[in-house]
Amino acid sequence: MDFLSKYLQSTGEKERNKAVIAYLASLDYISADSPKIAGSILQELKDQRSHLKMIASENYSSLAVQLAMGNLLTDKYAEGFANHRFYAGCSNVDAIEEEAINQVKQLFGAEFAYVQPHSGADANLIAFLAILIEKVQTPEVERLGKKKVDELSAEDYETLRKLLMNQTLLGMGLNSGGHLTHGYRHNLSSKLMRAFSYEVDPKTHLLDYDAIERMALETKPLILLAGYSAYPRAINFARMKEIAVKAGSVFMVDMAHFAGLVAGKVFKGDFDPIPHADIVTSTTHKTLRGPRGGLILAKKEFGDIINKGCPLAMGGPLPHVMAAKAIAFQEANKPSFPHYAAQIVQNAQALAGELMRLGIPITTGGTDNHLLVADVTSFGITGRQAEGALRAAKLTLNRNTIPFDPQGPWYTSGIRLGTPALTTLGMGPAEMKIIAKVIHDILKSTKAKEDRSRFVTEEKTLLGATQQVEELLATFPVYPEIRI
Ligand code: PLP
Repeated sequence: MDFLSKYLQSTGEKERNKAVIAYLASLDYISADSPKIAGSILQELKDQRSHLKMIASENYSSLAVQLAMGNLLTDKYAEGFANHRFYAGCSNVDAIEEEAINQVKQLFGAEFAYVQPHSGADANLIAFLAILIEKVQTPEVERLGKKKVDELSAEDYETLRKLLMNQTLLGMGLNSGGHLTHGYRHNLSSKLMRAFSYEVDPKTHLLDYDAIERMALETKPLILLAGYSAYPRAINFARMKEIAVKAGSVFMVDMAHFAGLVAGKVFKGDFDPIPHADIVTSTTHKTLRGPRGGLILAKKEFGDIINKGCPLAMGGPLPHVMAAKAIAFQEANKPSFPHYAAQIVQNAQALAGELMRLGIPITTGGTDNHLLVADVTSFGITGRQAEGALRAAKLTLNRNTIPFDPQGPWYTSGIRLGTPALTTLGMGPAEMKIIAKVIHDILKSTKAKEDRSRFVTEEKTLLGATQQVEELLATFPVYPEIRI
């Protein structure tokens, strides 16, 4: 590969973009060592350039975010936390971690921030353990807690395990849009604690706060958890906090999906989790548009224990990713970010409105956030078939259960659509209308074959749809500054 010299030859000095030079140089350099890996990176760029990215949990990070991860910071071990390390020579990592913490505290107005989690799942695990250790304060735990580590007998450990690991978690059910880490039976969260789920109302598919309250008063969870992966509505965190207080629970929010909408002040007042929750976890790569990673914000009282996330539950922090997080948080602190966040929601509402106008049911009848879930049952196909047909038409999105889905989580009856990435490209409501029509055309001309996976789509419609996608992406190109 020789992308850099071609770029330099085809551009004048003034129009050259330093990030693009670095990007192309890195591709050229990698391809000399491993043409396979460079080829896959290039192919991914081509794929993303030729498909509409509508996966609700994905976005396009800036080149600054991407480049901050591609350097020697990856070589550094820095177990511990800023200015308190188990390794020597960490002052530069300290500076990076502190910058990321300061930026994110400013962004969300949080008392305490921990920017090390490698992922949203890690952030949740650390938060659960922090709450268990901090809040399970029986006289027995206190007595054992006073012992030195080498004084603890096997029996003491068994007692501690029983006391700490026998607590209750109440989170949103997977079927209603909750996440696997919120107590799903195949996730550690349900092994660590007794997990109960609240579901959406069977008729409206909306959260029923009174029903959640009844359940919380019955189950008395140590942790009441709010947050979702596929619920299209804003949550009233003030009301959830009230429930947590009544039930004597710690109130935790997982804002992995909608962190960008909180940062961008779309979710304010009762709908902003930060003032209401004791602990807030997040990812950094969805609506927040940073690198892949996790984040914890908390009331000060949890700070000491959360700072012990490594080694409590996590391996060494990733300094290169923390550097990229700092840059993403700084980007989100800019005045333009609230406009981006508001546009994400306007686009999701325009998409939902047009799909409904075309006769496609949208769960809860619309959306308040960046995602919507469409029910494809009326087309006689499963979500899996819809996902496949739309991917063939160059739209990337994923199948998703609708509440109480008879097809289960593998085949599903629905698809989840998100607007964060398309909004980053600059698309607006007019483009959402075009996309809704493409989706409708494809679903209408797709027929199920003999099982729940296979399908056939009318050739002519497929051709028309891919042409429309191509036109849209020509007008709103993906990383246009990278000229390859
Ligand atoms: N929490 C929620 C609500 C999510 O939607 C996700 C991922 O989709 C996660 C946590 C886990 O994030 P990660 O994939 O970074 O572990």
